[in-house]
Amino acid sequence: MGLRRTKRPEHPTPPSGAAVELAGVRRQYGRGDGAVHALRGIDLALPHGSFTAVMGPSGSGKSTFLQCAAGLDRPTAGSVRLGGTEISGMSENRLTELRRSRLGFVFQAFNLLPSLTVEQNVLLPMRLAGQRPDRRRAAEVLGQVGLGDKGGRRPSELSGGQQQRVALARALVTSPDVVFADEPTGALDTTTAAEVLTLLRDAVDTLGATVVMVTHDPVAAGYADRVLFLSDGAIADTLPRSGPARIADRMRALTAPAPAYAGTAA
Ligand code: ADP
Repeated sequence: MGLRRTKRPEHPTPPSGAAVELAGVRRQYGRGDGAVHALRGIDLALPHGSFTAVMGPSGSGKSTFLQCAAGLDRPTAGSVRLGGTEISGMSENRLTELRRSRLGFVFQAFNLLPSLTVEQNVLLPMRLAGQRPDRRRAAEVLGQVGLGDKGGRRPSELSGGQQQRVALARALVTSPDVVFADEPTGALDTTTAAEVLTLLRDAVDTLGATVVMVTHDPVAAGYADRVLFLSDGAIADTLPRSGPARIADRMRALTAPAPAYAGTAA
């Protein structure tokens, strides 16, 4: 199942420049001997209309990376630009405004508000951004994720996969510069996960969306144009679009224990 095409492409010509740009991004927790270097200098530029997966062992810095790239956390050093706008020195209020109007988020746990209808959930980013809630736009994105007839339902009346599609519609409703997805298929079975990943892929291919997805699942990462591998706070490796087996191999290479000391071999 794919995204329903609409007559009006949202980004007829992709804006020039990178959608996400990090330069020398470091994030340190604590100081002195006990300091943890969660990010040790990340440099990257993700073009508009690209789908990037971020993988890495537990503790490698994936969450910190996503939080810094999405303006939810402040790097200790370095610069983050979103849609060409430098966010590093921004006030909390401006950052919140930018997140609401120019970024979309999809989380593992869907994070829909249970008391609101599906349509109201999808319109929430517009309300929070102070825009007029556009019901036609909500119907359009719900149609794109195949839930055109579910606007009046409550999230609890939908399956997990449908709820994540609502979350995706909510992430897309403002036509954001970037959609950040944190383990978006972590709570879904294989078939439903594939549907959601296909929709993310279609959002990139047909709507020109830019997606950055943290995942530990090589199958999910196989939908991306590029896979970044983090290790100990740095980009240790990258792969162009690859199958799950190749991606899993790279992951294993990152997590493999150092070779045993050869001198002890019999
Ligand atoms: P991942 O998402 O890949 O598991 P994280 O970004 O959560 O990695 O963590 C990277 C490193 O930073 C880890 O060593 C983790 O323990 C540390 N870390 C993350 N958040 C904090 C925090 N709030 N305070 C101290 N250390 C932290």
